[in-house]
Amino acid sequence: MIVLDGKKIAQEIKKEISEEVKTLIAQGKPAPHLVAILVGNDGASETYVGHKEKDCKEVGFRSTVLRFSDSVSQEELLLEINKLNTDSDVTGLIVQLPLPAHISEEKIIESINPDKDVDGFHPVNVGRMVTGLPTFVSATPDGIIELLKKYSIETSGKNCVVLGRSNIVGRPMANLLSQKAYPGDCTVTVCHSRTRNIKEICAQADIIIAALGSPEFVTADMVKEGAVVIDVGITRVKADNKNGFRLTGDVKFDEVSVKTSYITPVPGGVGPMTRVALLKNTLKAAKLSKSQF
Ligand code: NAP
Repeated sequence: MIVLDGKKIAQEIKKEISEEVKTLIAQGKPAPHLVAILVGNDGASETYVGHKEKDCKEVGFRSTVLRFSDSVSQEELLLEINKLNTDSDVTGLIVQLPLPAHISEEKIIESINPDKDVDGFHPVNVGRMVTGLPTFVSATPDGIIELLKKYSIETSGKNCVVLGRSNIVGRPMANLLSQKAYPGDCTVTVCHSRTRNIKEICAQADIIIAALGSPEFVTADMVKEGAVVIDVGITRVKADNKNGFRLTGDVKFDEVSVKTSYITPVPGGVGPMTRVALLKNTLKAAKLSKSQF
């Protein structure tokens, strides 16, 4: 069994990105600039945005966080996005989700200039991804694809089960793995809360991608000998330590790992690959931006 070291691979990719940034600057071009919009004081969102700022700094990007109170109106946000869309100093623009209930996430996402949509959530970019065109792929599926590639994991003709059908993880993941490409060429089954016989379906899988948010859902009896298991889930569960919690994946690691050929740990697997994928997209946006080149 090989534990897929997302942390190490992400660190290597970050090094490559910072080299590219140095080259851009040496050519007299500006460092890529990521702008994040953060609404309200949600603890998890604050943490994620903080990580993004730290990552940008590490590779030499500029980053700006624009904070709005919970009471900001949708119109105010749309106006701000409109300004950023045409600001040639902004390379990538992300809006941290979730947003307060009075704001339509769909409307906000659709208002972002697709050329700056480094989260890959805009329907234009989703459409391009689905049809196999070059685009910004959302960070988690892109990070997983990169991890499979780095470890040269065979995917062609494999039965892949994706647990979860969210727009940001399960659905794009299933799509990418079914594409005529490497990694890809899988026969993909997508499972969700209405799926019957999940255990039996998983037990047939050569590759399982677990993205449910249900701690330790995947148990040893659901996993075939030699399967590849990618654990996307991150849930805080109470623990007897100084933090009072620990991060738990969707896979019961101890009992499942011994049956697998490859498995990701939580933390240190998909998480760092997700973070670095956003940096890759931002660098890509900088290279595509006519205003900066
Ligand atoms: P989400 O939007 O809540 O979607 C969860 C999906 O799982 C839904 O499709 C849901 O089915 C399905 N589901 C949940 N419980 C189930 C069960 N018991 N049986 C069958 N299906 C079930 O979540 P998400 O945004 O995709 O994220 C999933 C997990 O990944 C979360 O733990 C999240 O924190 C984590 N995550 C990690 C990273 C990372 O960087 N590592 C990035 C993104 C997300 P229905 O559609 O039928 O409701």
